[in-house]
Amino acid sequence: MLSESEGYDLLKGYGVPVPQYRIVMTPHDAADAAETIGFPVVMKIISPQIVHKSDAGGVVVGVGSREAAVAAFEKIISGAKKYNNDAEIKGVIVEQQAEPGLELIIGGKTDPAFGKVLTFGMGGTLVELMKDITLRILPLDEETVRQMVKEINGYPLITGYRGMKPKDEEALVSTLMAVNRFFLENENVVEFDINPLRLYEQGALAVDARVIVT
Ligand code: ADP
Ligand code: MG
Repeated sequence: MLSESEGYDLLKGYGVPVPQYRIVMTPHDAADAAETIGFPVVMKIISPQIVHKSDAGGVVVGVGSREAAVAAFEKIISGAKKYNNDAEIKGVIVEQQAEPGLELIIGGKTDPAFGKVLTFGMGGTLVELMKDITLRILPLDEETVRQMVKEINGYPLITGYRGMKPKDEEALVSTLMAVNRFFLENENVVEFDINPLRLYEQGALAVDARVIVT
């Protein structure tokens, strides 16, 4: 599994919008990084053994000061050790905190019969519960991507539900096309997910990336 930052770097190269970030190894550097990026920031554990970072107390959002960054660093490291004492800790990622938005998921897997498949749907922590996901075999053309977007049950949340302003469907389509290219062109990528991708009235931002390579 690639680290979150390696996932971001790879995805960014294909045009997927990702947050600004720094990787730090000490509380002091965490405070410096947070100050450079600009408060508030989100801080997360980096460990190949910790796949679901929140489960390990490994995600702190809303870090608003140098003191808070120091405290968050210590909390994240001690949480990770408590969760799995054998987990190899590669540091802490300090990220630009994204505005709230509609949380979507874009995923990929390799099916033994069909090959590379792209999934898209409602994301965030409710993803398991909602099961509002659509999928297609790669490669995808733009028309297919537009169909995928329209066929999820949550589509009205994108076009503007009950007075909510419409979200940036074009940014979503271009992100899906970028992810399609990323998956096609990287033979060694067998599975990945971007959960969540936050979609806004203008633009989108991936705020987590998990990429599995062979
Ligand atoms: P996990 O490994 O538990 O999936 P995530 O990186 O997805 O960890 O973080 C958990 C949640 O924290 C996300 O679903 C998102 O709501 C929020 N979050 C994570 N990163 C950011 C960020 N950079 N800005 C704002 N919210 C974030
Ligand atoms: Mg996640």
